[in-house]
Amino acid sequence: MSLLTAGIQAFIGLGSNLDNPVRQILVARTDIAGLDGNEEIAFSPLYTSRPVGPQQQPDYINAVMAIRTRLPAQDLLQRLQQIENAHGRIRTVRWGARTLDLDLLLYGQDIIHDPNLTVPHPEMARRAFVLYPLADIAGADLYIAGCGRLGELLAACPPEGLQRLPA
Ligand code: ATP
Ligand code: MG
Ligand code: MG
Repeated sequence: MSLLTAGIQAFIGLGSNLDNPVRQILVARTDIAGLDGNEEIAFSPLYTSRPVGPQQQPDYINAVMAIRTRLPAQDLLQRLQQIENAHGRIRTVRWGARTLDLDLLLYGQDIIHDPNLTVPHPEMARRAFVLYPLADIAGADLYIAGCGRLGELLAACPPEGLQRLPA
């Protein structure tokens, strides 16, 4: 029996648009799966998307990862931020170009409103680059805490500017 059977299923949104974004995402996948108390459940196809916010920056590579984790949500966030930093993320303008963005999308069915952590991620319901890869690995029947069925969110969020990369 796996030691992780008691864990929580969480979903992480990955994004990068600097310094070889595909490699950033694939290395981050290994970094996240390698955290103590984490186990990878699924990893979506890669997508390209137009930037949120300032438009004069490269397109993004995005993916969504499902994990089973025994880390409390705050600890998981802290580890994700350490991975961002290890990938040379520099925070300048809001939504500016970055080597790596790791957002905690869902943590089981928990609803969290801490000063530094909001789960489900507050923008996810409006972001095609989150919803489509999430549906690839979780299916349209996934329930987003406080928000509704993923299939309904998808229907309201056309995949404009989003392209799935060939496997
Ligand atoms: P967005 O959150 O709109 O995708 P962003 O990812 O560019 O923007 P960041 O600069 O990565 O924003 O994070 C800003 C702050 O957001 C972080 O310091 C973190 O504490 C906070 N935060 C709140 N909720 C979350 C979450 N669910 N996942 C990741 N960070 C979060
Ligand atoms: Mg983000
Ligand atoms: Mg972020």
